[in-house]
This record gives sequence, structure tokens and C-alpha cells, in this order.
Amino acid sequence: MELENCNSHDHGNNTSQNDNDPSGNRKWYRQASQRIFVNRSLHLENIKFYGFDMDYTLAEYKSPQYEQLGFTLVKDRLVSLGYPQEIKAFEYDPSFPVRGLWFDTLYGNLLKVDAYGNILVCVHGFEFLKHSQVYELYPNKFLQLDESRVYVLNTLFNLPETYLLACLIDFFTNSPQYTREKTGVKEGELTMSFKSIFQDVRNAVDWIHLHGDLKTKTIENLDEYVKKDKRLPMFLNRIRESGAKIFLLTNSDYVFTDRIMTYLFDFPHGAKPDEPHRNWKTYFDTIVVDARKPLFFGEGTILRQVDTRTGALKLGTHKGPLHTGEVYSGGSCDVFTELIGAKGKDVLYVGDHIFGDILKSKKIRGWRTFLIVPELVQELHVWTDKCQLFAELQNLDVMLGEMYKNLDSSTKEKPDISKLRASIRDVTHKMDLSYGMMGSLFRSGSRQTFFSSQVVRYADLYAATFLNLIYYPFSYMFRAPAMLFEF
Ligand SMILES: [Mg+2]
Repeated sequence: MELENCNSHDHGNNTSQNDNDPSGNRKWYRQASQRIFVNRSLHLENIKFYGFDMDYTLAEYKSPQYEQLGFTLVKDRLVSLGYPQEIKAFEYDPSFPVRGLWFDTLYGNLLKVDAYGNILVCVHGFEFLKHSQVYELYPNKFLQLDESRVYVLNTLFNLPETYLLACLIDFFTNSPQYTREKTGVKEGELTMSFKSIFQDVRNAVDWIHLHGDLKTKTIENLDEYVKKDKRLPMFLNRIRESGAKIFLLTNSDYVFTDRIMTYLFDFPHGAKPDEPHRNWKTYFDTIVVDARKPLFFGEGTILRQVDTRTGALKLGTHKGPLHTGEVYSGGSCDVFTELIGAKGKDVLYVGDHIFGDILKSKKIRGWRTFLIVPELVQELHVWTDKCQLFAELQNLDVMLGEMYKNLDSSTKEKPDISKLRASIRDVTHKMDLSYGMMGSLFRSGSRQTFFSSQVVRYADLYAATFLNLIYYPFSYMFRAPAMLFEF
């Protein structure tokens, strides 16, 4: 991540160099919490359509309450499927999971990996494996992203199951009732593979989303679970005043979408403080629910119209045009963009799902992409608070360079770097712990995580919330820095 350095150190290859004042401060920078970060340059003036996902994008779920709710419902589901009652005692611990971990279904380990699959952290239940133990299971401390073995816990919806997997692996591996084996546990005649535990959890999570109580409980208690910001109507109105159009493209169904969106716009005022309240639909030019992303970006489904009085789908395929104020279900990106008259590069799509929203829309459709990463709020706090550790790590890197200074292939002596290596490991560990048990979403020490490498590849822009666009004019030129994720 490219950020203001906490000391005056600068690699000197940042495009903003000329804007630095002599003290090294970049005064024109918006403060960190309000910033939008840039991977690829984007001129906002060229954007003719702003598309928004709903869940975790327009509607940010409150953490950790919402994860706690998901966690409890999944536990209940597992117990109803025959898992031991004892697992009900598990309590969600938000300091443990971080998004983007891999679950190795063969050995039952949660892995934090870098862009290439090199293992940075490996935990079995709650037991953090030592280097030597990791090497025993994973030659070269490396694992290939083989989807029949590895599941990537990519989304914010995956956080409760990340923690639950750790709880269950810990429970079964350490319970005296079960014997620990390499790929599972055994009780008398019965073996339970880590893979089957994983599959049960995964199915239970899907079940609570599709058939279970997650939506009902959310709707019953919106204040508890959903964040609300009174600037939303004003901001969407400003987008339209700038001449661009707005669409909503969500995988949620109409009834749920309507409840959430009604809540998000539930203020006495409209787009301006002195204007009356308006229905949420009036802020959008086009509304699509049941989108089935990422399928939407490929072959898609049948486009139908929703009867907004009943929530039911109208019969037959909708052939267009798409009317403002109406709600449509499904369809495909092909048909959709043609009906609204958009070209790929005209669209800025704002979403939180690196695969469903960002990777596919960019790769298949050439949309410009804006990824929402709510964790950035916390990550930036740590960055500011633990400034000293980042500086220390940089100094250690400089010292390492010094050790080899003026040495070349003719050198017979071997500098002793063991102390430095130990210090680097120590500082890295301290840094990781300041984020949580599994460290930062973006890095481990100075190494970039798999998640952050995907952000760099597929998200043109990213920020903690789309509302940070409020701090930029619609003529803004987002410039990609020359060096990314460097400090
Ligand atoms: Mg979403």
C-alpha cells in the first residue's frame, strides 16, 4: 500500500515527489481515512455510469455484531445436523480472523499466503505452526491454489466461518474423545476428515444465507446490523448532477433489497436538508436485483421485471427498454449494458467482492472498478499507531544492505546476518500482532498477502467506503503511484 511515511524516508520514486514540501509532508493529500487509493489511473470525468453493489457496499454491515449473528446461526445449524452441543459454547472473537485466508481442506489448516502461494502464517485450530512444522506439511513452505483442495475465504461474509473452522478444528483435534490423524480425527469406527468438517461448515453457511434466518434477523434489527449515513441521498444526487447515471446491481432479492434500501434512505430529508424525503428508487436510473454475479458478467440469466407491489417476478423475458423507477431481476451484462447504452470503460462499478464484483467485471467486461475494503479503517489506524515498527523494519532492511556493501562474487568472507534476521522476524511478528491474531489483511511484515495482490491486479481504486468519493470533485484525475504496496 502506498501511504504517507511516518518518517521522512522516501524511496524517491513516487509521482507525487514534486508536491512534497521540504518537510516531507504531502499537504494536498486528503487525510488517510478519507482517501481513495489508486492502482490504475482513472479520470472521473470519463465515467458516465456509477454502478453499485448493495451488500457490504451501499449497505455496510456492522462489525462484529453482524459476524456474531452469522456465527451463531451457523453453529445452530451444525448442531441441528448432529454436531455436538458443546460447540454452542464457542464465542466469536473478532481479533482472530482476517479476510483472504486459505483453508487447506486436506490438513485442516488456515493459511495466510503471499501472492504466489508461499505460506506466511499457518494455524491448525488455534495452534500456530512453527517453521519446521510448516516445512514438514508443505515442501518449500508453498501450496498451489488447487480449488479441489483449497478454499479461499475471500469475502466479508466468510469471516464467521473462518473463525468457526478454527474453533472446530481445535475442538476435534484436542478433544480426548477423538484421536488426531494427519487429515482428520477418529472416534472408534468413525473417521471425520477435515475436508468433511469444512464441507459441513460451507453448506451450513450457504443454508443460513439462502434458507435460514440471517436475512430475517437482519431485517428485524436493522439498527443493530446495518450502518446508515445521512450523506447518502446527497451524494447520489450529486453524481446525477454531475451528468452521470446511477445503477444498482445486487445479488439480493427484491424484498430484502427493498427493506435494506428503504432503511438506508430513511431520513426526514431528501437529497438536500430542506428537501422532503424520497423513495430510494428515485435515486437510481436503473435497478437490477437477483443479478447472480459473477454469472451476470458471463452468460447471465433471463431478464425479468419485478412487480414491486408483490415482489413477484412478471412472466416472460423483459426485452427493454429499462425504465427508471422499475425494478428488474437477473439478466446479463451484455444485455444490460446495451439497454442502458454503456461501454465498458464508461462504467465505474463499486463493490466489495473481489471475485464476484471486481475481477469478473474487469476481466470480462472492461468495467473500471472500485473495491470497498471496510478493514482499511482499522489497518490505517494501526499504520499510524505503530509507525515506529514500520520505521524499524525499514532500518533493518537498510542495515542488511550495509552488511553486503562492497562485497561481490570474489568475496570469501560471509557476513553474519543471523542477528539481523532474528530482529526482522521479531519486528514483523510485533507488527502482525498489532493488527490481530492473523495479522494484516495486506501484508505480513513487508511481504504482500494474496489478498492484497488481487486488490492490486483487479481494483482500479479502493477505499474503506464509497462515501470517500464525497471528498473528490467529479473532474478528479486519480493517478496511480509509481510504486505500490511499498513503504
Ligand atoms: Mg456485496
